[in-house]
Amino acid sequence: MRTLLLIAAIVLAFLIVRTLLIRARPRKPSPRPTQRIQSGDVVRCDHCGLHVPESESVRNGDRHYCCEDHRRRALDD
Ligand SMILES: [Zn+2]
Repeated sequence: MRTLLLIAAIVLAFLIVRTLLIRARPRKPSPRPTQRIQSGDVVRCDHCGLHVPESESVRNGDRHYCCEDHRRRALDD
């Protein structure tokens, strides 16, 4: 009987903690990875070859980079 009460207490504690965690979590719009890509063309990073949406890419003339760091690295080469 004691074991049963212990299990019930653990389950109850788990449910309470989970409920608190869900409430504490800030509400974010559900992430939709495909939504970003729809907003524009996908370009290829000239340094690492990663494909990124054009709106998020770093441009240098007609070249695109996934981040500022790769733009700088490509210029150093
Ligand atoms: Zn890159």
